[in-house]
Amino acid sequence: MSAAPPPLPLVWTPPRGAKPPTHLADLTIEQVGAAVVAAGHPSYRAEQLSRHYFHAGVDQELTAVPRVAREALREQFLPPLLTEVHERVADRGTTRKTLWRAFDGTLIESVLMRYPDRATICVSSQAGCGMACPFCATGQGGLNRNLSAGEIVDQVVRAAKSMRAGDLPGGPGRLSNVVFMGMGEPLANYNRVLTAIRRMLAPTPNGLGMSARGITVSTVGLVPAIHRLTDEGLALTLAVSLHAPDDELRDTLVPVNTRWPVREVLDAAWRYADVTGRRVSIEYALIRDVNDSEQRADQLGALLAGRLTHVNVIPLNPTPGSKWDASSPRAQSLFVDAVRAHGVAITVRDTRGREIDGACGQLAASVTATAPRSETALALDLAATGPTA
Ligand code: SF4
Repeated sequence: MSAAPPPLPLVWTPPRGAKPPTHLADLTIEQVGAAVVAAGHPSYRAEQLSRHYFHAGVDQELTAVPRVAREALREQFLPPLLTEVHERVADRGTTRKTLWRAFDGTLIESVLMRYPDRATICVSSQAGCGMACPFCATGQGGLNRNLSAGEIVDQVVRAAKSMRAGDLPGGPGRLSNVVFMGMGEPLANYNRVLTAIRRMLAPTPNGLGMSARGITVSTVGLVPAIHRLTDEGLALTLAVSLHAPDDELRDTLVPVNTRWPVREVLDAAWRYADVTGRRVSIEYALIRDVNDSEQRADQLGALLAGRLTHVNVIPLNPTPGSKWDASSPRAQSLFVDAVRAHGVAITVRDTRGREIDGACGQLAASVTATAPRSETALALDLAATGPTA
């Protein structure tokens, strides 16, 4: 009898410098067409490959392509990108967190959440994160590497296929929303994230045909990148992880604030709202005795009053061993009232969102790849914020 394989390490450090294989999701539609022709295939194979990747079932064969050409096309345009390591389920099966292994052993996570009226995938844009927010599990491990556009799209395509197959309770359905609130700062991986988004938006067969309004990009406030995103002409939803209304505190909670302070971040956010007509979400993780005073709520309300915005208050979901804790229900309610007194729209994540929604943040890919864990442990792994859809 062969021995059981050794457990995977808690945190995997991949070899530096290796690049994910190029996949059709890394390329523009035109580039796929040109590459198909250059490889000696008729140009219409590009559309067949895209249709297969974006819209076929998970295990479906590439039958539209003759058998002789199938393998070569698969190898060149559809190399495997992510392998499922394991899946954790919560909320009676309507929440699924998947740990994926990339070609080089890098581990990343995504979370699929089904609600009565929508289904949302929370995706990672980087393995790890370089922003070093002290209350965030991902930030503690630093940046491992950027994900390729294909690796980002693959998380979404797999979720869309799961929904179509009816893997979550409620029968077959449609993936309606994507939130970039898993591991990483999406705007620090700008080009690949935008390439991925364009493939999500591209109509069938060349993409997933999603609505820009259903895609939320979350950022800690990389101001030049927010301006760049504003000028893309896409009506995406922008979420700014503010977490503090003043520079003194925000410098400690979101270290990049020392480079782009609150005023500059919000000015960029308001420009985004003006140009796109989209309401900007302000994410505020409420941390006990740190940023939850009424005085800070008042300051926040004053900053946001009269703007096209909505505040999402996130009761912090502490990671094990962390010194950061959630605010008391009373402090939370006083905070919300004080912001609302300025006429600012504000909501608190419900319990389910609290368990499963991935903020910019706390998906750390630090779970073991062998032993299943309890739903409570799953909840602790997951971020405290969530989709703004
Ligand atoms: S909160 Fe977001 S930006 Fe900050 S370290 Fe965590 S993943 Fe990075």
